Amino acid sequence: MPLQIVHHPDYDAGFAVNHRFPMSKYPLLMDTLRARGLAGPDALNSAEPAPASWLKLAHAADYVDQVISCSVPEKIEREIGFPVTPRVSLRAQLATGGTVLAARLALRHGIACNTAGGSHHARHAQGAGFCTFNDVAVASLVLLAEGAATNILVVDLDVHQGDGTADILANDPRVFTFSMHGDRNYPVRKVASDLDVALPDGMGDAAYMERLAATLPELSAKAHWDIVFYNAGVDVHAEDRLGRLSLSDDGLRTRDDMVIRHFRAQGIPVCGVIGGGYSMDVPALAARHAMLFEVASDYAR
Ligand SMILES: [Zn+2]
Repeated sequence: MPLQIVHHPDYDAGFAVNHRFPMSKYPLLMDTLRARGLAGPDALNSAEPAPASWLKLAHAADYVDQVISCSVPEKIEREIGFPVTPRVSLRAQLATGGTVLAARLALRHGIACNTAGGSHHARHAQGAGFCTFNDVAVASLVLLAEGAATNILVVDLDVHQGDGTADILANDPRVFTFSMHGDRNYPVRKVASDLDVALPDGMGDAAYMERLAATLPELSAKAHWDIVFYNAGVDVHAEDRLGRLSLSDDGLRTRDDMVIRHFRAQGIPVCGVIGGGYSMDVPALAARHAMLFEVASDYAR
């Protein structure tokens, strides 16, 4: 069976091409996956919007209602970075439902990936930093509520610290949150994860892989994980507009392989989400996001 991929055309909320958030990376990612033969009908699964009851497991009920009814206060919209229009609201519900579906597919097949997700700055009270709902936190809490998982590990390698995920989950003993990120990157005020590794500006492939290789066994030793959520943000790349690290394309591929191989070798299901990426060269950006799927497909059975 090919790698199971969760997708929806409305992950793309159709922002202007010069918007600070490169929304066109979503359709371009799908084009890339199709071109590489990864998006056949036996691979693609359609995301459905997460119902409010799921979203409220991770977020304040008032905020969830505001997003669904597109009545988010302007002050919060400014923190998110865009107004919550009907398309943005739908996109947030779909991306979150997509990560829940990808997690279920990962439990069934060993590995699955969402072509969106990794909205790790959304905290309990509200969204922030281009993140409306925290899909990984919602999916974790849905699996726990359903009894589909007992011990969950979040491996967040986006260049930005996973402050929202930590805000929602760091005090939940059932979920271990790990974030490895650029120390001087957004957010200025970090929220402590269960384990944070803060990296200096400009760190390149070799030093990065060394830190990662040293940390993965530490994570495995903590518990028997029922599932790992892997945020494969590509904003660690040297050409990213927002990130301060200096990974190469080869480095990204090595990183993804290192993480997936590590957990799959122990039979632990891996649910991949794409996380951040902010290069102005959107085709190059989409190709970088596609690496997660290319690497993951080597581990699908
Ligand atoms: Zn990021």
